[in-house]
Amino acid sequence: QIQRALRSLSIPLERLHIMKGHMIQDMCKGLSRETHTQAKVRMLPTYICSTPNGTEKGNFLVVELCQSQVRTLLVTLYGDGNLSPQMMYKIFDMPEGIRQGEGEALFDFIAQCVTQFLAETTSPDNSNGNSGECLPLGFVFPFTCKQTQLDKAELISWSKGFSCSGVVGNDVVQLLQSAINKQDPGGGEASSRWLSPWKGWKSSAGQHPRVQVVALMNDTVGTMMTCSTEGRPCEVAMVADKGSNCCFMAEAYMVEMAEETSGRMCVNTEWGCFGDDGTLNDIITPFDECVDQESYNPGEKRFEKMVGTLYLGEIVRHALLYLNNEKAVFTESNTSVLKEKGIFTTQHVLDIINNEDGMVEVKRILEFIGLQPSERDCGRVQQICRAVMGRAATLHATGLAAILSYMCQTREMEQLMVNVGVEGELYEGYPRFEEILHSVSRLLSPECSTTFLPSRDGSGRGAAMVTAVALRMQAQRRQVNEVLAPLRLTRADLDQVQALMRQEMERGLGKSTHASASVRMLPTYVCHTPDGTEQGDYLALDLGGTNFRVLLVRLSEEGISMLNEIYVIPPSIMQGSGEALFDHIVDCIINFQMKQNMMMQTLPLGFTFSFPCQQVGLDKALLLTWTKGFSASNCVGRDVVQLLREAAERKQHAGLQVVALVNDTVGTMMACGYDDPKCEIGLIVGTGTNACYMEEMKNVGTVEGDQGRMCINMEWGGFGDNGCLDRIFTDFDKTVDKSTINPGKQRFEKLVSGMYLGEIVRQILLVMKEKQLLFQGRACTKLQTKNIFPTKFLSTIELSNGLALRQIRAILQELELDASFEDSVLMREVCQVVSLRAAQLCAAGLAAVVEKIRENRGLNQLSCTVGVDGTLYKLHPCFSKNLQNTLKELAPNCDISFLLSEDGSGKGAALVAAVACRAASGQ
Ligand code: ADP
Ligand code: MG
Repeated sequence: QIQRALRSLSIPLERLHIMKGHMIQDMCKGLSRETHTQAKVRMLPTYICSTPNGTEKGNFLVVELCQSQVRTLLVTLYGDGNLSPQMMYKIFDMPEGIRQGEGEALFDFIAQCVTQFLAETTSPDNSNGNSGECLPLGFVFPFTCKQTQLDKAELISWSKGFSCSGVVGNDVVQLLQSAINKQDPGGGEASSRWLSPWKGWKSSAGQHPRVQVVALMNDTVGTMMTCSTEGRPCEVAMVADKGSNCCFMAEAYMVEMAEETSGRMCVNTEWGCFGDDGTLNDIITPFDECVDQESYNPGEKRFEKMVGTLYLGEIVRHALLYLNNEKAVFTESNTSVLKEKGIFTTQHVLDIINNEDGMVEVKRILEFIGLQPSERDCGRVQQICRAVMGRAATLHATGLAAILSYMCQTREMEQLMVNVGVEGELYEGYPRFEEILHSVSRLLSPECSTTFLPSRDGSGRGAAMVTAVALRMQAQRRQVNEVLAPLRLTRADLDQVQALMRQEMERGLGKSTHASASVRMLPTYVCHTPDGTEQGDYLALDLGGTNFRVLLVRLSEEGISMLNEIYVIPPSIMQGSGEALFDHIVDCIINFQMKQNMMMQTLPLGFTFSFPCQQVGLDKALLLTWTKGFSASNCVGRDVVQLLREAAERKQHAGLQVVALVNDTVGTMMACGYDDPKCEIGLIVGTGTNACYMEEMKNVGTVEGDQGRMCINMEWGGFGDNGCLDRIFTDFDKTVDKSTINPGKQRFEKLVSGMYLGEIVRQILLVMKEKQLLFQGRACTKLQTKNIFPTKFLSTIELSNGLALRQIRAILQELELDASFEDSVLMREVCQVVSLRAAQLCAAGLAAVVEKIRENRGLNQLSCTVGVDGTLYKLHPCFSKNLQNTLKELAPNCDISFLLSEDGSGKGAALVAAVACRAASGQ
């Protein structure tokens, strides 16, 4: 019998694995919005999104509502890694009847305790350290609440003998705050109830500190918070006490019940109810059944009833009763005391097993309880006690293993190292508890390695920590918002940008205003988009993108096929003489033709030349200015086609027939137009940014003729160069602009395009570091280096949505930055703000374009396609979406689709050449 009883109390490893799996399932159920209400493990969001980092400083008040007491506590933190907080306590007994009385009376009483405690705590320094004269208070309220903010929690139901009226359904933080405000003589006229209760709390200004309830929390959370110190965050806490519970830092996006989506949030698992749906039935023993039946809440908290110290003695008692019935123990003596509920306490159990030397002490304890044990009884009782305790520890370990594995999975880590704060009677009283926790959780979650940290007074000191962290986060949030505010554009800002773009467009088109417009609106002499019937072989050149390329493009009924070769233009040539540059280009063409074995052929050539040109014909274009790092001499003001022809002559290459010079934006529009006849806009968002569109000839004041349309190369990158956008440039933008080779130029481009976004982010990070908002203010020399933070980092960082921010940390490590988890979250926010602004500005520009086209054509609704190219648009995870959404808002009467261009500069140049040849041959 004794063996059978012991066996039923020991759970095989495979069964623990299964239980761990169930626990994880239940956790997921509790976290999901759909299944949350049915979940037994409730996974309550706590709105605590950070653990202490040791810089917390100041005075914090805690008030804890206990069973029959109110505990007040004042904690002073020194910002020293929380090594030596100073604490003062006072405990107040609650008057009889208050637990069943009016809610208002309860909260008034709590407020009085606070006031009185403060009155007695007369250290004159105490009001220092916190900004203003506001004394923050953390409220430990151990009842089930629906929390929606750190300082907002509706009571769902009372328990533990409380039933005050008028509280359920109300925000308990608000109730406490109102009660405190009634008390606070500094808040209004002097209260008559307390005689100068605020003495010693006067600040220099003679004001009383105002107590503000900053956080409400459950006690488990406090345990986690007390165990965190500088450089050693504690992200899991377990309370193994009368009840049992666990909380941990979950990935916030998994916590669907809370609005937070970035970073982490502490989740209060409330795992005591695990098993209430029957998942533990096959390991529940008859003794557990009896304990449950005799409890005040049969069928509930099944897990807690196997592991909480409120129940362990009872389990032992029922086991002994059973064994006694089976004549396995106490056969000789009267065992009626065993029928008394609560006679056997957890302390008895602990005393029995903690006593290794002989049975004398065991015997003494059993006799004290009222039993007359034989030597054999003593041994058997001890065995049972060990089994019950061991099982409690094992089950705790299994629950913990579930949480650890879950954390490791959701953080997408192969290995998790984590600190676990532990507190409670069982942990402190049962010497083997930690050892069992260690070995069992190691077996069940070998991928996780844990360090257990003992916590003392989690509910008190921890509550102060929660409060302190909340304040630190609030202050940080304020500062972060201040830094980022200038980068966040309102709808009004965007409307204004759109209007300005429209105004600059008109000026760029006007004959007399053209010269002074910041948006140049250059005619391209491309008057038709393709119709899809174009045919033939063409050569194309692509200069001005990331690579210089020579292409052979074949247009046929089957579509477009291309061969291309990339050639390097060394910086010495980019910045050397114009002759050398064009000689190099012709050399590359010759090389390409040789390779393709087509030296003998003379094919029409389209030249994609992505720099601002004043075009005077399709094959005649004066370079206005170099951009993108080019600065070859003797080119600006000259006809680029002519420069190319002259180089061909120098190289004695007779077979070059340059038909058209095309901007890459136009090429993009043409390439997309080949597939979609509605494509009448081209957009580039890559290294730089630009757009083109089909304008009515009658509106183009700079070219003779009123018939038909012409594609206008807007050169919108220069938008704002005349100062019209100054209002939206931030200090970061100005710093970035100053460090470029063309300060004051291409101002719009510098807000939008790939060449600059990384730099803007870098400037923001530097300022945030300076303000101690990042990296705890630690030096980061590498971040000082120009271009160390390329725009592709934005894509990587923003892509890690909610998931473990591993990528961010990898990037940061590359930059030799020692970033905390919160640093990563903040960096992502910075990237998001910068890329969102870029997309919105781009949309505002595009809105001006589509609205103009719509008006040109006198349409109520315009339906049109934008051909797009550029790596930023194509690869950034949110840019295109943000752009499209903003455009919809700004131009609601236009129905705009976006078509990605594939190799627009190559195809486009050939198509322009083809359309031109067709026109020339009069077809
Ligand atoms: P170009 O505009 O020179 O023809 P691209 O359209 O390929 O060339 O754009 C290149 C630019 O795109 C780079 O300068 C860089 O700023 C940006 N970029 C590169 N990779 C990414 C990425 N993964 N996400 C966002 N931007 C990127
Ligand atoms: Mg390009």
